[in-house]
Amino acid sequence: MASFVSVVTGQLRLMPAGGLPRDLFALGIASKIRIDRNSTAMASSDFGRIVEAAPEAVLHPATPSDIAALIRFSASSPVPFPVSPRGQGHSVRGQSLAPGGVVVDMRALGRGHHSRINVSADYVDAGGEQLWIDVLRATLQHGLAPRAWTDYLRITVGGTLSNAGIGGQAFRHGPQIANVQELDVVTGTGDMVTCSREKSSDLFFAALGGLGQFGVITRARITLEQAPKRVRWVRLAYSDVAAFTRDQELLISKRASEAGFDYVEGQVQLNRTLTEGPKSTPFFSEADINRLAGLASMSGSAAIYIIEAAMYYNDTTASYVDKKLEKVLEQLSFVPRFVFTKDVTYVQFLDRVREEEEVLRSAGLWDVPHPWLNLFIPRSRILDFDTGVIKGLLGGTNPVGVILMYPMNTAKWDERMTAMAPLAGEDMFYTVGLLRSAVVASDLELLERENQAVLAFCHKEGIGCKQYLPHHMSQDGWQQHFGTKWSSMAELKAKFDPHTILSPGQRIFRSTGSVAST
Ligand code: FAD
Repeated sequence: MASFVSVVTGQLRLMPAGGLPRDLFALGIASKIRIDRNSTAMASSDFGRIVEAAPEAVLHPATPSDIAALIRFSASSPVPFPVSPRGQGHSVRGQSLAPGGVVVDMRALGRGHHSRINVSADYVDAGGEQLWIDVLRATLQHGLAPRAWTDYLRITVGGTLSNAGIGGQAFRHGPQIANVQELDVVTGTGDMVTCSREKSSDLFFAALGGLGQFGVITRARITLEQAPKRVRWVRLAYSDVAAFTRDQELLISKRASEAGFDYVEGQVQLNRTLTEGPKSTPFFSEADINRLAGLASMSGSAAIYIIEAAMYYNDTTASYVDKKLEKVLEQLSFVPRFVFTKDVTYVQFLDRVREEEEVLRSAGLWDVPHPWLNLFIPRSRILDFDTGVIKGLLGGTNPVGVILMYPMNTAKWDERMTAMAPLAGEDMFYTVGLLRSAVVASDLELLERENQAVLAFCHKEGIGCKQYLPHHMSQDGWQQHFGTKWSSMAELKAKFDPHTILSPGQRIFRSTGSVAST
């Protein structure tokens, strides 16, 4: 919708045209609302670069009460407009956009004079807009750190807590949402509520994994632990998927996790990627890649599987980290001598994707479409998924990007939260991330077709997969991702009318508690 310029008592003022009610610009927050093209253009797309939708305006809040004022206003308007919090805009399907409405640029909250990261003895209070890398730096000054991480740290506390926040520590500590003690939330009715497991718990559980649909997280109290100093970072190669998954499951089992690795993930390297992909990576040298390609060709496997694991240590434990590592490796069945090790600081380890980002940026491969598909697969079907998808549908491809595959323990997830583990009855499930980039225009369509084929395969084979970072926010997508688990859903929706805080084209109706496309 266009804006027009009017002359008011000798001053030029941008006035809204169309979409937003004019009274909005009479509120105390008016000076923090931007409607210029630069501001709205920046909030019209996200990291995915697949969905584009322009807001009418962008709010740059100085305080949480600015957000509350905006939402209160929208909620009380005859036709409420969409409001969407945006952290770094690293969502991949437009989840942080607000077509025709107002995007709340959460980063503005952190630009005030007061620090919005406050460290205590065993927790940190961090603003929802704070980057995890800044939370890490602040807590490390006290020798402390959060326990659960995502692979990438240039994303926000509110953004990952609105998804779940998964990574290689989740097997032991659960996702990031399981490591939160308290939240400050601006609800869909514009109330500012402090909630926890004990206090306004329905809001607390709903907001965690809720994609901003139940409120805007303006502060999170996150559990801390003593931070290690250094990390022994290991990659182990397998040509046999069954051995790979067996070892991963052993490593995250209670027995092994107590004494073994502190972080366990896994990757799949397709044959063609090893022979035709990058010659080296920030972790693997050219010689390493050549060895892995040789292994793939010798074994005849369509893919090489790599366990990525890390063992933390500090000054007092440095002398026996090698022994401990040796003992863990003895139990595993990776291809003999295919062990790759690095020794890095804790920060270097946690911030490792930064280096990959720099490589991709310099090659012009960062700001491209990312049709990522993240799935949760039941443990009992992971080998079927491997046969049908990894070796089947993707077997002959050479995608730009990464394929992640690693298990987590179901018991570490709390099913009262909006983001839940996929299936009751299985003690582990896998996350599979097809994190592929479309580097030339025609790739996007192709990759999207492949994603659809993956979902169709799962459907046909009865592999009850569930999407993490929902792929489509259709009604089905909502059900598939969030489930209809908790009985208080309707009640919650009635109480915290979230209809203004939604992804593109979606409304949740207070009266019925149902989701519909607009
Ligand atoms: P945005 O994308 O801006 O927002 C995400 C969603 O949360 C939107 O729906 C938005 O409206 C909502 N939201 C944002 N802020 C708030 C808030 N304060 N309160 C309420 N709702 C809010 N995820 C993992 O779990 N594990 C990983 O290892 C991982 N690795 C990644 C690596 C890369 C390179 C990238 C780009 C992403 C990765 N992610 C990972 C995904 C990440 O969790 C999402 O990108 C997520 O969207 C966080 O990004 P953001 O902070 O920019 O939030």
